Amino acid sequence: MDKKTLLAVDDAEINRKILSKLFSSEFDVIEATDGKEALDIIAERQGNIDIIVLDIIMPKYDGFYFLEKIKNTDFSDIPVVIATTDNSSEAEEKLLDLGATDLIYKPFNPQNAVKRVKAILARRENENQRIKSATSSVESRHTMAMRQTNTFSAEYDFETGKTFIDPEYIQFVHRDFVNIDLFDPTTMIGLIYRPDLDAVVSFLNLGDVHETTQRYINIRILTDNNIYEWFRLALTLYVENGIKTKTILTFNNINNEMEAIKKLEIFSSIDRLTKIPNRNTFVEKTQAIIEENEGQKFAIVRFDIESFKIINQLFGTSEGDSILKFIAVKLQEIIEPIKNGTYCRITSDLFAFSIPYDGDELLNKVIDTLVAAVKMYPLNFDITLSFGIYIAENSEYSVRHMLDRAGVAQKATKNNYKSHVSYFDEALKEQEEIEITIVSEMKRALDNGEFKIYLQPKVDMRTGRIIGSEALVRWVHPEKGLISPRNFIPIFENNGFITELDYYIFETVSKQLDKWRQEGMPILPVSVNVSRADLYDPNLFPNIVRIVDKYNIPHEDIEFELTESSFISDNHKLVELTFNLQKGGFHVLMDDFGSGYSSLNSLKDIKVDVLKIDINFLPTSKDDERAGKILTSVVSMAQALDLKVVVEGVETRDQADFLISIGAYEAQGYFFFRPMPIEDFEKALKAQLEEAK
Ligand code: C2E
Ligand code: CA
Ligand code: CA
Repeated sequence: MDKKTLLAVDDAEINRKILSKLFSSEFDVIEATDGKEALDIIAERQGNIDIIVLDIIMPKYDGFYFLEKIKNTDFSDIPVVIATTDNSSEAEEKLLDLGATDLIYKPFNPQNAVKRVKAILARRENENQRIKSATSSVESRHTMAMRQTNTFSAEYDFETGKTFIDPEYIQFVHRDFVNIDLFDPTTMIGLIYRPDLDAVVSFLNLGDVHETTQRYINIRILTDNNIYEWFRLALTLYVENGIKTKTILTFNNINNEMEAIKKLEIFSSIDRLTKIPNRNTFVEKTQAIIEENEGQKFAIVRFDIESFKIINQLFGTSEGDSILKFIAVKLQEIIEPIKNGTYCRITSDLFAFSIPYDGDELLNKVIDTLVAAVKMYPLNFDITLSFGIYIAENSEYSVRHMLDRAGVAQKATKNNYKSHVSYFDEALKEQEEIEITIVSEMKRALDNGEFKIYLQPKVDMRTGRIIGSEALVRWVHPEKGLISPRNFIPIFENNGFITELDYYIFETVSKQLDKWRQEGMPILPVSVNVSRADLYDPNLFPNIVRIVDKYNIPHEDIEFELTESSFISDNHKLVELTFNLQKGGFHVLMDDFGSGYSSLNSLKDIKVDVLKIDINFLPTSKDDERAGKILTSVVSMAQALDLKVVVEGVETRDQADFLISIGAYEAQGYFFFRPMPIEDFEKALKAQLEEAK
């Protein structure tokens, strides 16, 4: 196909050069030095330009002039992408109002800029195709199929690398859907219902398929009404002579069907698969029994099959179903004879029962009988059940809440190899309270300034001197006191609040560095933590730059600690962020190096400046020779790669001595300093300065 033509309008030669370089492999790039020249070129070529990248600030004939003028020509429909440094939303809105199609930010992030421009063109093409009558054969094929089945479809051709989406998709799903890249899950965020996303990713993972295959999945997708509706996705992968040729995806809106099933399930009292009572029946019946028997304790128990997914994969879903039916029958046999006993299947491999509780005897007997019965199921696989138990003293809580608590207890068994039974106890109750507090109060706490920064010094062990620090967040709660990040960070990472908090930390650290500069304090670099969840913010890098530059902080004074990820798709984002940060003059540290399973692999792709190794991942004592050897070789590998090493978690003199002996001099750990409030850090630094005098 012919190369498309891109017109780069910028007064700075260097910017035109960059744009030419970025786009020259895919476009013929023409350059113009101001708005007027650009208009002349367009007129001369009679609009024969596919896309324009426009600088706003240029002497005399600037970007605004250009946008104003082109509006009244025949060429007003050529897409215009504004290249700007101002990423405020007001500026953005104004430019879009003036007719800009999209914006890219300077300094250019190469992958992003090219991706955006290509996406715009792809969108254009799709729209044009929709307007034109269905002429191309792929299109007419798809449109016809759609009309006949009320389904829209997409086709990916492996040879050309092109995706075709039936333009009628617009009748079914949100219009941004066209930007989805089947091989990049991050493009699906927001468009696919978040809890369904993982399933979609593995569904689309074509991996090692050697013959034509077909699969189905039901998921929720965003529609233009901003609600998620159920679609059945069917994927057919065509393989010819061992080579993947194309995949066809069809999207069938099954929302009505799903709603109907849900309603039927709610109204019915029996679980479809196992024919024992369902959750609703269980909740109602148990609630009534507990209320009628005030003074009697009850054990509410939830259990499931460990690794049920694997069983399904290994033996097939029909075998899986038959195991579930077997368990249901046993459960019924065991509970039915117990007075005031109730039971049900909740969903999938999750069951529950409730029995009167007067000590562990009966409960243990029930559990043991169930476990023994399941062992009798003929399968070449150990079926293990794990149980979570909540003891209800009265009817203060609803049965639903009791089930949730049994579920919390059940989760606690998952990492426990010894026991498959666990009770909801005081510790879990406290945990539950903390979680509730955390989620309900996080926003207020941020506004109230309850998140405080502690600094933990990093030292050069040869001199004992402080050479920098890491910012670690603490929640100073007005009633609950100091809450550790280990309690709230995982929750914030799940609900997305972490990104807001991290920006706050970046800003607070920047402010502090600025304050130190004004006070004439010596400036040592401070590192901040970037959560993996932050990577999903498409503006992460520009936002970082904006925050840091607001306080005129030299970029070498603030460092970023990233953790590797087990997701290849995230790694791609990590590579991009690392690249951008370094190009912007920031240092990047790989945090917790060695804790993930792909450490070496990611090191190959992500060119960080510093490795942070947590010594506690490797239990080292003087006589633990193997751990010492591993550490030694990691350090020499780092040296070979020109990487600095910081060892964290150093708690003893022995560890410090050993590290010095293998040439790892920089450390962070309780042996030297604990994380401390900023004032204490300042004192420690001043003491060190005094000493040096
Ligand atoms: P991390 O980034 O690996 O931070 C080091 C953790 O090790 C800190 O825990 C620190 O107090 C602790 N530590 C330092 N020296 C020693 C030692 O000698 N022995 C032992 N056993 N531990 C030591 P902390 O402050 O509780 O933070 C826990 C984690 O929470 C951090 O691990 C980091 O992943 C996360 N975190 C903390 N602050 C932030 C933040 O502002 N943003 C994000 N995204 N994550 C943060
Ligand atoms: Ca860290
Ligand atoms: Ca760490």
